[in-house]
Amino acid sequence: MESCNLCPRACGADRAAEKGFCGGGYTIKAARASLHFWEEPCISGKNGSGTVFFSGCNLKCCFCQNYNISAENFGKEISIERLAEIFLELQEQNAHNINLVNPTHYVPLIIKALDIAKPRLKIPVVYNSGGYETVETIAMLDGYVDIFLPDLKYKSSLLSEKYSHAENYFGFASKAIIAMFEQVGKPIFDGDILKKGVIIRHLVLPNARQDSIEVLEWIANNFEKGDVLVSLMSQYTPFYKSCEHKEINRRISTFEYNKVLEKAVSLGLDGYMQEKSSAKEEYTPDFDLSGL
Ligand code: SF4
Repeated sequence: MESCNLCPRACGADRAAEKGFCGGGYTIKAARASLHFWEEPCISGKNGSGTVFFSGCNLKCCFCQNYNISAENFGKEISIERLAEIFLELQEQNAHNINLVNPTHYVPLIIKALDIAKPRLKIPVVYNSGGYETVETIAMLDGYVDIFLPDLKYKSSLLSEKYSHAENYFGFASKAIIAMFEQVGKPIFDGDILKKGVIIRHLVLPNARQDSIEVLEWIANNFEKGDVLVSLMSQYTPFYKSCEHKEINRRISTFEYNKVLEKAVSLGLDGYMQEKSSAKEEYTPDFDLSGL
């Protein structure tokens, strides 16, 4: 973190003295720690997922629904020791897992917190990221993370550059997802709850269904059936700076979503296919610093 290259931006920022693109400094910053019930059913279960929402982001997508914490970096600084306590408090609240949301820029600090908590932490750790990762950072997580929950947002470099300032998104994300699978392997369940594995999320964007189809084809071509789960999401809502791009300044249509859904089914992908009717804004929690 003295010359940060934790993510593909490789800003080289000295995080003790300055902030890189992600806005992350030398101390962990988070906006909420609580039970969360809006993840995939195998993550949230009945008890909820013990979620820590980290502030800052290495993508800052123009349509981000959490933009006040990701792009605007709202949050509270907490120590490594406090983060370890939070993990254990969430476990005491019967969380099915510890869910690290947008953790990439804090990986070395999170590992230190897990080192403190691990002897008493009995539930799986979920690494829930935008997918813009290096294989080196993913390798650091070996033995610490049980479930990877990456986005695979785009195949097209034109779209990733336009909406997430990351022309090289797919090249890095695709390699990182393969490294995640090599680390944790196929899904392992205990009843309805996932204990180990990879879930690849993809949010369908307006006017971009062909790119969604190419993302799904890449998954089908690079993994055997049953290797990974796919979570296809329909809740796109034009938040934040979406209005600067008129082609995405609307929700997706039922036609668009059904075309992508049909492709997922025809490719035989396993996982979670969100109902189009559930595309509502209530999925965004209040970032009120609770639990920190
Ligand atoms: S994690 Fe942040 S500071 Fe580090 S390379 Fe990525 S954007 Fe830059």
